[in-house]
Amino acid sequence: MIKFLDLEKINNRFRTEIDKRIAKILDKGWYLQGEENETFCENFAKFCGTKYCLGVANGLDALNLIIKGFGFGNGDEIIVPANTYIASILAISENGCTPVLVEPDINTYNINPDLIEEKITNKTKAIMVVHLYGQVVQMEKIWELAKKYNLKIIEDSAQAHGGAAHVGCNNKSDLFTSATHVDIGSDDMSSECSLQVRRAGNLGDASAFSFYPGKNLGCMGDGGAITTNDKELYEKIKAIANYGSDRKYHHIYKGTNSRLDEIQAAVLDVKLKYLEKDNERRREIAKYYRENIKNAKIILPQTYDENASVWHVFVVRTENRDEFQKYLSDNEIQTIIHYPTPPHKQGAYSEWNNLSFPVSEEIHRTIISLPISPVMTNEEVKKVVEVVNEY
Ligand SMILES: *Cc1c(COP(=O)(O)O)cnc(C)c1O
Repeated sequence: MIKFLDLEKINNRFRTEIDKRIAKILDKGWYLQGEENETFCENFAKFCGTKYCLGVANGLDALNLIIKGFGFGNGDEIIVPANTYIASILAISENGCTPVLVEPDINTYNINPDLIEEKITNKTKAIMVVHLYGQVVQMEKIWELAKKYNLKIIEDSAQAHGGAAHVGCNNKSDLFTSATHVDIGSDDMSSECSLQVRRAGNLGDASAFSFYPGKNLGCMGDGGAITTNDKELYEKIKAIANYGSDRKYHHIYKGTNSRLDEIQAAVLDVKLKYLEKDNERRREIAKYYRENIKNAKIILPQTYDENASVWHVFVVRTENRDEFQKYLSDNEIQTIIHYPTPPHKQGAYSEWNNLSFPVSEEIHRTIISLPISPVMTNEEVKKVVEVVNEY
């Protein structure tokens, strides 16, 4: 069986290093808010190109805390793609804000920038972009709207660690509300505009990451982080996540408790060193799939820039999705649907059940994710192509 994602194999590559780091924590006996957290956050901020990074308990908390940090609530509207994973929307509702759903683009599966402006009202406070399936959202138009209507941009980067927006050499990124040009180095992008290459986590006012085990950068339990260049926001969120406390036993917000523990931070710090290489392998597999899957019944995913996606999942579309999934399973290939039901058709949002989002519904009806991961062998990749082509 070709597994959808072989987590054991993924993590065992780092077994010796992880063992050592965990042993160090046990020797020290310090489990929360310590050196590991500090080191990882510093390295992850550097990786994203941001000034600040705060470790939190999970991705949903990260989104939640960003909304709290901005002080949004009481029916404030936040724009969000209609086809996102439900967590993005739950974070908005949980704060008493109103999620305003916008249809995705059928080609990129990301929010359609052309449909946002008509949804902006005098209650709109933010646009939440979700870099879905690992592909960074094309930000130019969204930066323009944020500037025009004075909106915050919240990134849900839970699926896009390392995804980069090649924003071009036209200084469009100056439109970004709190523009900071953080040089992440020429990376492997075109060197003449290296300053214009910006990673997920550094494309809005604040960004949420999840380190759920199956993400491109995953820990061994729950974990999350917030990145931002806004010092004031960072300090406020840090306090809110720590019982609303800016210093010991001094509580200035009705806060909560959300922490990244030392063991998870250590695991993440080890794995972060290999993330670019792992993403590169994912890109290689995606390229092979896109060049070699040739079947009129299968619609392949599109990307607008080779560096934009870190291929968290490789999503194809087909008319008879369930039949195709059974066929693959009969041929020893495991697949997953991301996701089978759109948020507006979920029981939790019964008030939306009669609304119609045709693009999102079409996506949810036809999508299926093929195996992709840094530990897949060339033989496995070839076999997937052969089996898909014979369908
Ligand atoms: C995984 C994920 C989350 C939530 O992350 P958790 O760590 O599971 O809370 C949020 N948004 C998106 C798009 C995700 O894929």
